[in-house]
Amino acid sequence: MYIGGQWVDAVGGETIQTVNPYSGEAWATIPRGRAADAELAVQAAHAAFTTGAWPKLTASARGALMRKLGDLIAEHAERLARIEVADNGKLINEMLGQVRYLPQYFYYFGGLADKIEGAVIPIDKAETFNFTRHEPLGVCVAITAWNSPLLLAANKLAPGLAAGNTFVLKPSEYTSASALEFAKLVEQAGFPPGVINVVTGLGQEVGEPLVTHALVKKIAFTGSEFGGQRIYESAARDFKRVTLELGGKSANIVFDDANLDNAVKGAIGGIYAASGQTCVAGSRLLVQRTIYDQFVQRVVDFAKTAKLGDPMDTGTQVGPVTTPPQFKKILEYIEIAKGEGGECLLGGRQASGPNLGAGQFVEPTIFGNVNNQMRIAREEVFGPVLACIPFDDEEDAVRIANDSNYALAAGVWTENLRRGIVMSQRLEAGMVWVNMYRAVSYMSPFGGHKRSGVGHENGIDAVREYLQTKSVWIST
Ligand code: NAD
Repeated sequence: MYIGGQWVDAVGGETIQTVNPYSGEAWATIPRGRAADAELAVQAAHAAFTTGAWPKLTASARGALMRKLGDLIAEHAERLARIEVADNGKLINEMLGQVRYLPQYFYYFGGLADKIEGAVIPIDKAETFNFTRHEPLGVCVAITAWNSPLLLAANKLAPGLAAGNTFVLKPSEYTSASALEFAKLVEQAGFPPGVINVVTGLGQEVGEPLVTHALVKKIAFTGSEFGGQRIYESAARDFKRVTLELGGKSANIVFDDANLDNAVKGAIGGIYAASGQTCVAGSRLLVQRTIYDQFVQRVVDFAKTAKLGDPMDTGTQVGPVTTPPQFKKILEYIEIAKGEGGECLLGGRQASGPNLGAGQFVEPTIFGNVNNQMRIAREEVFGPVLACIPFDDEEDAVRIANDSNYALAAGVWTENLRRGIVMSQRLEAGMVWVNMYRAVSYMSPFGGHKRSGVGHENGIDAVREYLQTKSVWIST
């Protein structure tokens, strides 16, 4: 692990084997941190925030360091992407795209570091000068899920460092290798010791001591609704700030006036990218009744052609499921859907065949005529399982889409721009895509409403999530 600028083993000397989800082989050994390691990391981050070189740096110098880190990521992108594929089994093209995009986070937010300005307030008191300062919070803990390890880390570190905070990053126990490699680049970039620390291990063992630590001022978490709830509850006890990026059951809505060729591709990409293991997966496909049979058949026909295989192979379209518990959960949901009367139009089993290595693959699965009250329509599966639901008109589509505990993302397919805009206003979701799906940028806010999360990442305002305001009064 990387703590206080030093490379260290876990205090207890324990390790975890990381398994490649395609080959089934243990390919990396990572330290299994516990409370003692969390303590060291938080103390290092606290020392760096209060007494080290970091608080003495000008904001421009902070930005320059961040840009250097961006350059180093760009230089090592291919290696980092391959490490992530070995850890999470996502397609190499997707991970290469993600990692090659990461430097932009550090360039963009590095550029904002010296643009955090307070205001002089023309206060309504005589002989008084009043101004505001926006100050960093202190030690922030970043906890990430396994599906996009470095992207989820960059979403947190880049705005938080621009604001002048220090960090302890704890990646998922399933995908820690890229975060440790990233720490080497942090060291190479010349960040002062303790500004960015990386500890590895299980959520309960090292994550919990981190998030409950009294010196931690902010927790930025991406993960399950259950994990987010636990963290929110414990953060409340100490009035810690939080950003929570949680799960979803996003509606991808196809009207009969859509460009159906594009909508079919959007429906497929929305659910089968990363084998459905993305928070914004368009896992509820709402199709207008007038085209329901024809459109769903086209989606089934397209999904049938999906090429399952080695995620390192650029020709593969669907890779393995990342973790054994996730694999089990997906198959359980498929049985639940069958039991609820869902009509299984495609897949519905563990995939078998050549080119699947020792991986745990689930066949691209489609359920037809799903009713929005079924569990398959209400709960996050996080797998390649699509639930198709017919609707009558705009009103009906809005009613069904919004009848969900989640509100992360939504897609709308229509050639009628008025309808696209009206739908974007009426849908309860943190992100709405019209005639596209799954677009994300460091420039645009990303975050869920309802049980999908609290706060936003990305965009200029993400820096504010890592600042606190002080009002200074001077008698003149
Ligand atoms: P998870 O909640 O099991 O784990 C996420 C992280 O939290 C891991 O690093 C884990 O070790 C840690 N953790 C677990 N318990 C903890 C505790 N008590 N204290 C501190 N840390 C703890 O989630 P997961 O299975 O890794 O990820 C899948 C989930 O993440 C899905 O629900 C998905 O929708 C969500 N997700 C959301 C987004 C988003 O931006 N909204 C992005 C990706 C994934």
